[in-house]
Amino acid sequence: MSCPDRAFDVPVKKSLVDQFGRSHKDLRISVTDRCNLRCEYCMPLDASFMSQQKLLTYDEVVRCASVASKMGVQTIRLTGGEPLMRPRLYQLVEQLTQLPKIEEVAITTNGLLLADQAAGLAKAGLSRLNVSLDSLDEARFKKIARRSGLQQILEGLEEANQQGFQSIRINAVSIRGLTEKDIVPLAEFCRKHCFHLRFIEFMPLDAEDAWSCEDVLTGREVRQILEMHIGKLSQNNKDDLSQPAIDYTYSDGSGTVGFIDPVSQPFCDRCDRLRLTADGQFRNCLFSSTDWDARALLREGGTDEELQGLLAACVGAKHFSHGIGMESFQRPRRAMYQIGG
Ligand code: SAM
Ligand code: SF4
Repeated sequence: MSCPDRAFDVPVKKSLVDQFGRSHKDLRISVTDRCNLRCEYCMPLDASFMSQQKLLTYDEVVRCASVASKMGVQTIRLTGGEPLMRPRLYQLVEQLTQLPKIEEVAITTNGLLLADQAAGLAKAGLSRLNVSLDSLDEARFKKIARRSGLQQILEGLEEANQQGFQSIRINAVSIRGLTEKDIVPLAEFCRKHCFHLRFIEFMPLDAEDAWSCEDVLTGREVRQILEMHIGKLSQNNKDDLSQPAIDYTYSDGSGTVGFIDPVSQPFCDRCDRLRLTADGQFRNCLFSSTDWDARALLREGGTDEELQGLLAACVGAKHFSHGIGMESFQRPRRAMYQIGG
């Protein structure tokens, strides 16, 4: 059934190229806003969650992904909240990997449930794993995540290795006055286990509205700490310009480390990402103030063509940059766990 009377603000040009010439090839899909941690930079302690009816079903997610893939999306990353908390996630992975134009399906997870699920995810065809881990010190882990779980994450990483996942990435958020002591131990741990470590600057997406510019421990500062304690870092050539991370290799050749610096070195000019929230809203930027309601369209019987129109409108309205640091900058209403990082 079609919905002929539905109108969009932006003329429907069914392409994922925006008005600044950026093509969108990467779709981040959040499958839940629930989580088994309460990281202070992401989620409030007393979080309330989306009702079950509001969450897209796996069939609805696959329909959105399929439409996006026909318009040019090639890679999908599942995120949340904590994606492994969504029951039988491997079934969704299996369906997404079967979409003809999708080249890679990856997951960003806190790793707490990975030991149990790594085998199923590998079997389902998951291409890549990013595991978020801010500290190897139990007390500091608990201070940041506001729950325990370090040991489970380490077990999850071991199991993922056993299951043959290659190039596992470890993501660590950098916050001034909080994470400095974790930088070198994380780097040594990742060098030892051949994980690719990436430091991410703290963004104004915390739920408690505590972010301030001074809290951002920049990638440059983290690099200086690493060079002081481990050794010189040389910048690698970029294979994929749309990747936000700038990677470096240690002078002794043992390992790489990347820096994602959205605050001090914004990479909006080469952004190729779109997002679908767990409650079925397309977004063109983490910092967007608008949602494009795919769930309503899906549940009112909208056609694939109408979904394409919605996605094209979302892309057409994308701003040139996130605007952090500008006077006009406004935080989005949603915190990170409600969007999907
Ligand atoms: N729960 C999963 C996890 O932690 O990996 C997936 C969702 S989490 C929102 C995705 C990524 O966003 C994590 O690597 C997390 O560290 C990062 N993140 C969350 N809040 C952030 C913030 N305010 N600034 C920078 N990165 C943030
Ligand atoms: Fe949960 Fe990930 Fe947010 Fe931490 S960063 S609270 S693990 S969703």
